[in-house]
Amino acid sequence: MNLMSEDEFLQRAVSVPMQTLQWELAKRKGVDVVVRRDDLVDSNLSGNKFYKLFYNLLQAKIGGYQQVLSFGGAYSNHLYALAVAGRNFGFKTIGVIRGERPKHLSPTLQDAERWGMQLHFISRTNYREHTQHALSEMQPEYGELVKIYGDFYSIPEGGANSQGLRGAQVIGWAIQQLKAEYTAICLACGTGNTLAGVAAGIANAEVIGSEIGSEIGSKISVAEVVTETPKVIGFSVLKGDGDLGERIITQQQNLGLRGNNWRLISGYHAGGYAKKLPNVVQEFSHVLERETMLQLDPVYTLKMFYGVAQLLALNYWPRGSRLILIHTGGLQGRRGFNTAALL
Ligand SMILES: *Cc1c(COP(=O)(O)O)cnc(C)c1O
Repeated sequence: MNLMSEDEFLQRAVSVPMQTLQWELAKRKGVDVVVRRDDLVDSNLSGNKFYKLFYNLLQAKIGGYQQVLSFGGAYSNHLYALAVAGRNFGFKTIGVIRGERPKHLSPTLQDAERWGMQLHFISRTNYREHTQHALSEMQPEYGELVKIYGDFYSIPEGGANSQGLRGAQVIGWAIQQLKAEYTAICLACGTGNTLAGVAAGIANAEVIGSEIGSEIGSKISVAEVVTETPKVIGFSVLKGDGDLGERIITQQQNLGLRGNNWRLISGYHAGGYAKKLPNVVQEFSHVLERETMLQLDPVYTLKMFYGVAQLLALNYWPRGSRLILIHTGGLQGRRGFNTAALL
């Protein structure tokens, strides 16, 4: 596996463009809005999935695996990114997808297959059981998949494990490297893995920067988060995610992290995960896109922007505030979004 070095990975993270947004609403409220364009971190391996995959792939490489397997739906940004990573870094990828193989694959899966990903479809009931965690050798499906494909490194759906969190920390670390003041960082949450990582990354930035590990993969270590300022605000795109906050705390604790520098806002899921958007949100998206020329994906980043717009309208942030909005990517998922039944 010919993975980029950790130094290159960190370098990519600090080179991500920061775009000052020309947004009428924010101007009126006296708030500066800067978009961190993580959708541009790589041409195809875009957005937060770039970060969540890196340390997973490093683990796979250290473990001597030739193949990586993961899970997702037909429009999965994660599987798409994994397929691109497989092509770019020279390893085989297997995508396990819920449901029967459809007659017409989604554009996402067509691309994934074209890049060499093996698509493996399984029944929805079996799927649910083992996507939250990586497949373990204890599970019967593991043996079956190994029999078909040979040995593999397994990543849970969305790349949401401790290696994913370590990678997402790098976004927070990179923001701190700019040494610029800001009021809050806003981002969209699915599993909350990215939020957990970014919040830890801004709190641990100095530790991360000063550590010169000789051991591969040791640069991003973790320390205790002690700050009390809610610096990172996550907008959940899921409906009925009552325990998301607790799951984020658990994810941080599993890495020895503790902290109170983030908040979760649940009111702007706009109907739920990958559901058809209400007209008011669609209209918002057209206006925003025309005004700012920024393209957003309908499943994640648009909802975060919609939430930010509502909070701006409520004067949630005082005049003179400076917000950093993370564009977590996902634009590939725009294709066919309005015509397909997504779930
Ligand atoms: C996967 C994804 C997210 C959510 O990331 P989590 O770590 O699961 O919270 C946000 N935005 C985009 C564009 C994504 O693809």
